[in-house]
Amino acid sequence: DVRNLSVTFTKKTLFRPTRTVRAVNDVTFQIPAGQTLGLVGESGSGKSTTGRALLRLVPITTGTASINGNDMAAQSGSRLREARRDMQMIFQDPYSSLDPSATVGASIAEPMLVHEKVSSRTAANRTKELLDLVGLRPSHVNRYPYEFSGGQRQRIAIARALALNPKFIVCDEAVSALDVSTQNQVINLLEDLREQFQLTYLFIAHDLAIVRHISHSVAVMYLGRIVETGPAERIYNSPAHPYTQALLSAIPDASRNRKRRERIVLAGDLPDPSDPPTGCPFQTRCPYVMEICRTENPPMTEVLAGGSVACHLQTAGPTLSGESLPDPA
Ligand code: SF4
Ligand code: MG
Repeated sequence: DVRNLSVTFTKKTLFRPTRTVRAVNDVTFQIPAGQTLGLVGESGSGKSTTGRALLRLVPITTGTASINGNDMAAQSGSRLREARRDMQMIFQDPYSSLDPSATVGASIAEPMLVHEKVSSRTAANRTKELLDLVGLRPSHVNRYPYEFSGGQRQRIAIARALALNPKFIVCDEAVSALDVSTQNQVINLLEDLREQFQLTYLFIAHDLAIVRHISHSVAVMYLGRIVETGPAERIYNSPAHPYTQALLSAIPDASRNRKRRERIVLAGDLPDPSDPPTGCPFQTRCPYVMEICRTENPPMTEVLAGGSVACHLQTAGPTLSGESLPDPA
């Protein structure tokens, strides 16, 4: 249960004055236990920082992030370590998240030996069970990460993440580096594991196509803010925010079963996060930009079909979903 979460960094750079970057800006979302929230946006939008803040891997500047009733912003010392045991993070690059000089078995067993102080025999048995659970062979314990493919390495990273029986897992671009068919296999595995162990996921990706089949709900981030959130069905069928529409229009098969969606090509790049525009953060690239967008940041407003959106089109006109937006200027 994340409320008004902000994470501010101070960046010291050579040749430039010290800058303050609000990497995460007033972010609010909830994930019901046992469900998956897909968190989507371009790189630099603050998705990873949000995920890290929930586990307190980066400091929370303001706001709360309660997981199982524990506000992570308020924990420290041994209570923080205790709260973190129920949480894990799986990263994009299985090549770098596994120690190349350790056997796969040693990598998976390590958290159990360190945090649960189990005997090596118990850890060894559990390691073999975990390998089996993620679709690898128990006999793989003696091998090294380089002997596996990218998809297999991500399975090993998942086995390691599961070692301490977490309840909440942040998957940060966990399948983004894999080819599409391997992506699907790993996503299916994560789905099975979620059902089997009632896991809750924050599933981060830069692409709406990736999160489509795993997410119950979706949140779209832009320049540190959530600009749209709602049930996955509604987001895919009638995206309300022009940025969500642009992201969705970039998926080649998104229009197959419904009326053809024009490809919306976004002009320009993400603005400098240390110097965001006043008003709507998306105004520099939005095809619908209006006068009010230059000065006033649109508040999150409920969308009739579910969820909410931060766009003046919602409040300015009769528009209740993306279907009735005017033609871009
Ligand atoms: Fe575009 Fe204005 Fe909506 Fe921002 S508030 S997304 S600039 S129409
Ligand atoms: Mg990232």
